[in-house]
Amino acid sequence: KTFKSTRPPIPLPPSSHPLSITQYCLSLLNSTPTASSLDTSPFLIDAATGTPLSYSQFLHQSHSLSASLQSRFPSLSPNNVALILSPPSLHIPVLYFSLLSLNITISPANPLSTRSELKHIVQLTKPKVAFATSSTCKHIPSLPLGTVLIDSTQFISMLNSKTSSTPQQVTAAQSDSAAILCSSGTTGRVKGVELSHRNLISVLCGFFHNNNLTSNDNSAAVSLFTLPLFHVFGFFMLFRAFTLGECLVLMGRFDFETMLKTVEKYKVIYMPVSPPLVVMLAKSDMVAKYDLSSLRKLGCGGAALGKEISQKFNARFPDIDILQGYGMTETGGGATSMVGPDEAKHYGSAGRLTANMEAKIVDPSSGEALLPGKEGELWLKGPNVMKGYVGDNEATVATFSSDGWLKTGDICYFDSEGFLFIVDRLKELIKYKAYQVPPAELERVLHSIPGIADAAVIPYPDEEAGQIPMAYVVRSPGSNLSEVQIMDFVAKQVSPYKKIRRVAFINAIPRSQAGKILRRELVKHATSDTSAK
Ligand code: AMP
Repeated sequence: KTFKSTRPPIPLPPSSHPLSITQYCLSLLNSTPTASSLDTSPFLIDAATGTPLSYSQFLHQSHSLSASLQSRFPSLSPNNVALILSPPSLHIPVLYFSLLSLNITISPANPLSTRSELKHIVQLTKPKVAFATSSTCKHIPSLPLGTVLIDSTQFISMLNSKTSSTPQQVTAAQSDSAAILCSSGTTGRVKGVELSHRNLISVLCGFFHNNNLTSNDNSAAVSLFTLPLFHVFGFFMLFRAFTLGECLVLMGRFDFETMLKTVEKYKVIYMPVSPPLVVMLAKSDMVAKYDLSSLRKLGCGGAALGKEISQKFNARFPDIDILQGYGMTETGGGATSMVGPDEAKHYGSAGRLTANMEAKIVDPSSGEALLPGKEGELWLKGPNVMKGYVGDNEATVATFSSDGWLKTGDICYFDSEGFLFIVDRLKELIKYKAYQVPPAELERVLHSIPGIADAAVIPYPDEEAGQIPMAYVVRSPGSNLSEVQIMDFVAKQVSPYKKIRRVAFINAIPRSQAGKILRRELVKHATSDTSAK
């Protein structure tokens, strides 16, 4: 009752060989048919300014930065952690590449994080140094080597230093940690997902061998990025584009109409997107104003995409395939994906297991592995799966079965052809526009509000965002706190995407005998109770 990937197995480099993700990316890039023309072809374009960065400029900047960092921070050593806090810009891929080639573990976080969110992340990941912009640096606690401002002239000169631009070689074992990305896992607060170089090598290897994205005229395929680069989806898509020699147009700040204009201007072929963007493309009238005929594929993941929306989208854009994928930060990104137009027609499915991955569907109450067609918790095993949660052995142990399966917390089934369907979530997580919102974090904030006796946060369905965080609140006797007051208080404490957007009052939060919030009961209550606002 184990589901094996239906894709041909892809040989990975021997795991004992020292190999960093950056060395691996370069070796793949050099094996692409377009490798010879990469010197001048753009790897990155800033959508806002039109500034390009060619592959050779990118590599030059990354080397120069590595050398500058080695001379500026002689004590910065392999396996130290660097916190990165910045909106997307051309500097970020350069910085990622440079740090990873020095075998520094990168820890990118949401640039909108509040002071307390950052404090928590820093406690988990223990960075030696941070890289931030003049507007994102203010909440970063003091670190041993301080904070480097990536919008400073000093940083720009580190990217372009003429002297000493050959960094000392650093080797990385594949088991070394390459990145620590944030995820709340199945329960509780944000945790640091530790992904090794090997994990990322494996994810990219799958993409490289399943690529069938070519431009019409042999020039580099152009993809457009509206994803944040700190989230696993944007993170691995960035490396994917690099290894395939694509041209990546980066949008720092998302705006739907600018996105449409950018597709037209750069003849974008491919866009990795989350479901809310598919909803907008399927429904917006603005779409008709722009020539989107270059678009051939959307890679969609991060949250559920309804079958109806996929069909509506395809009725409007019959020539664009939506290739859905499912993954988690804990699986370094993709665990299932779709390849080609035939698979894309499996509306409602999240695709098939990527090469080298195995799965089980497990009955949450009996622990029994189930057959195709039966719903249960998805368990995953394979080279993409994380090392664990940094500094949180308890959470790591709870997330893996005794024989090494990652328990995803998602309720799913496989059909007889190996397509995965995500049905529900067993875990606490709320996904607002594919961003993770951990209920436990919002409950902590709610409990700190005078006048609140008890509270629980649940996902409430929303067509545009997928889900919005909704709070059920028990007021203390005599309190007349209003919904708006509660929402305003929370909004000041958390990143904007975590805001509570709906509040209902209740006499008591339903709890199990062990004191666990019975969230499903509340979800049922919320979705059947039209008076809850
Ligand atoms: P993250 O770690 O932020 O990528 O979140 C992972 C979670 O997002 C998964 O465990 C799922 O609950 C959800 N998710 C990711 N991809 C999909 C998908 N294609 N369909 C439904 N849910 C998804």
